[in-house]
Amino acid sequence: MEAQTQTQSERVWVEDLAEQGGAKNATVRGIVIDVKEGSGLAYRCPECKRVLRKMACRIHGQVQGVPDLRVKAVVDDGSGAMVAVFNRQLTEGLLKKTLDACVAESKDNQDVIRDQLADMLVAQPVEVRGDVTSDDYGLMMVVDAARVLKVDLAEEAKAIVAETDWSELSEAAKTYTRVAKKYAEAGGDAQGFDEQWTEAIEKAEEEIGEPWP
Ligand SMILES: [Zn+2]
Repeated sequence: MEAQTQTQSERVWVEDLAEQGGAKNATVRGIVIDVKEGSGLAYRCPECKRVLRKMACRIHGQVQGVPDLRVKAVVDDGSGAMVAVFNRQLTEGLLKKTLDACVAESKDNQDVIRDQLADMLVAQPVEVRGDVTSDDYGLMMVVDAARVLKVDLAEEAKAIVAETDWSELSEAAKTYTRVAKKYAEAGGDAQGFDEQWTEAIEKAEEEIGEPWP
């Protein structure tokens, strides 16, 4: 178990992290704009832990690779971007499946897990916490804890439609404003929100068979 003091930290802007050259136990909220190559299932050298290329280590040559899972996500918070590296445990948590299951699933296609992670994370607001270091390639966080701040707008819209007093358009407008604010606070941008909201409304309209007011 982590100590309580380790589980919470102030939100930091990427721009400030860049100026400071990194930070310990920083919390960043932003949008995942890319899941980099090398994410997903990888095989490591049993000797030096380097990731194998074509099942060979550049130091130890042909070896029996040890499977591992990771994510290298590019997180942008509007002030800048950094790479957030998720370890095996966090990646298993995101995928809701084990490393063994990923190995079995990847027999025919090595990229299948990375594709799943990209589908899951790209364009999503996330909160990540960990130590951030800076080098010539930019900022990199080794993530200790992460959560996807996904607002399920389809579900929200459905609930709102069910509860909305159709004669009170001002109530629906108020709800829209509240959800938009929440989304913005979660690290989303207004345009991204509008796109998701429109989709949610369409789904909601399908559900009830009536137009949104
Ligand atoms: Zn090696």
